[in-house]
Amino acid sequence: MVQPYKHEPFTDFTMEENKKAFEEALAQVKEELGQHHDLLIDGERIRTGQTITSTNPANTKQVVGTVSKANEELAEKAVQSAANAFEDWRKWDPRARAELLFRAAHIIRRRKHEFSAYLVYEVGKPWKEADADTAEAIDFLEYYGRQMIELKEGKPIESRPGEQNRYIYTPTGVAVVIPPWNLAFAIMAGTTVAPLVTGSTVVMKPASNSPVIAAKFVEVLEEAGLPKGVLNYVPGSGGEVGDYLVDHPKTALISFTGSRDIGTRIIKRAAEIQEGQNHLKQVIAEMGGKDTVVVDKEANIETAVDAIIVSAFGFSGQKCSSGSRAVVHEDVYDEVLEKVKERAEQLTVGNASEENVYMGPVVDQGAYDKIMSYIEVGKEEGRLVTGGKGDDSKGYFIEPTVFADLDPESRMQQEEIFGPVVCFTKAKNFDEAIDIANNTEYGLTGAVISDNRQHLEKAKYDFHVGNLYFNRNCTGAIVGYQPFGGFKMSGTDSKAGGPDYLALHMQAKTISEMF
Ligand code: GLU
Repeated sequence: MVQPYKHEPFTDFTMEENKKAFEEALAQVKEELGQHHDLLIDGERIRTGQTITSTNPANTKQVVGTVSKANEELAEKAVQSAANAFEDWRKWDPRARAELLFRAAHIIRRRKHEFSAYLVYEVGKPWKEADADTAEAIDFLEYYGRQMIELKEGKPIESRPGEQNRYIYTPTGVAVVIPPWNLAFAIMAGTTVAPLVTGSTVVMKPASNSPVIAAKFVEVLEEAGLPKGVLNYVPGSGGEVGDYLVDHPKTALISFTGSRDIGTRIIKRAAEIQEGQNHLKQVIAEMGGKDTVVVDKEANIETAVDAIIVSAFGFSGQKCSSGSRAVVHEDVYDEVLEKVKERAEQLTVGNASEENVYMGPVVDQGAYDKIMSYIEVGKEEGRLVTGGKGDDSKGYFIEPTVFADLDPESRMQQEEIFGPVVCFTKAKNFDEAIDIANNTEYGLTGAVISDNRQHLEKAKYDFHVGNLYFNRNCTGAIVGYQPFGGFKMSGTDSKAGGPDYLALHMQAKTISEMF
């Protein structure tokens, strides 16, 4: 019997022994930095002339590792390898595939701080965020393994006398997985193992900002017993390798998490039937967000302030779930704004590989420049309350930034900034607050802070987001507890970590026999 699923607990870093253990992991990983990781195609490690260099965004001189870069020819090889391996892998007992995931989860759990330390170096995560990212990766393995065991016999349907009907799920084929750098471990691992456990084979193109943690994860799956060719690891550029994989006639499924622009581009390309293609491609695309924390006049102000701070500044606002908008009832607006300002000014910002700060850097120069230019827009469109300064001399640091008095239609309140910036808008009443919260093209997460039951009931129907939270922050969905995915331009609402997720990776088959 498999034990019931429970999410992986987070580490309490206020305990001295945990703090020490994490510092040791940081020191150990520091010794390993700079290694090279090859491509993995058909079980073979391939070194190419071109490389991607992964650096620490908190200290850009520090090389975390290098990885070989694939080209079209190697992408072709990877697809062929996945297509060949599919013939055997799809017939594995689903339970054996699930058990492989459980073994991988054990391996990661044993070395938990080591993986989290890699996340600190590679994407600048503060300890708490790194620890949560690793915990979520473990959760995906444990949860999808169990889901596959449940789906193994299919779902019950009716049969008439003399007839036997079955409804089962079959694997899809070659899956192309293109994960993001922000939940660099969790989403990369989750989107990779979901197709794998269903019996599909995978070509994974890791994010160029976080290819090292992906290489480490591939090693874990090999150690857990994944046969050759079932997972192929091919870092490369989106324009070359990404497009080639998406367009390939043998690609059956594409699982993408990232920006709206790339996601919609993939959906369009995947709809184009290629020569030799005899199936429609399935696309799972989880894209951006412009998420709102709504504060009602009858609300616990401390809860509201906490929700805004955590939603806006956790991992420097680099989550598609980040609460970059605060829409606050006019009666409590000034009080909430003042308290958020005070709290934002107390947050520590720095290099998490050296100290346990609340906020690290943003991920790269491109992100830094984009966020800083939005801060300039914010100064024109609204009132800068605190923060606003950046320093990219050593790493890409930006202060927690708060703007007030934004028009709900302003660029700052409509466009995804993906940085430590929260913008306040005043609402006359609760209805107006919900209208404002709904007025973007996104619909991923949202929070309502209210003690008014009628208002919460209204929000259940009228606040149009995939993940709606009451009296808490709008980030940090937990696998198996808060299935995650958004409406509107936020994506295909696949609900990662939820009971319907695996079915999206499979084809249901009805078998009906008369006897
Ligand atoms: N699932 C994460 C959360 O609930 C966000 C995922 C993302 O940013 O892509 O915060």
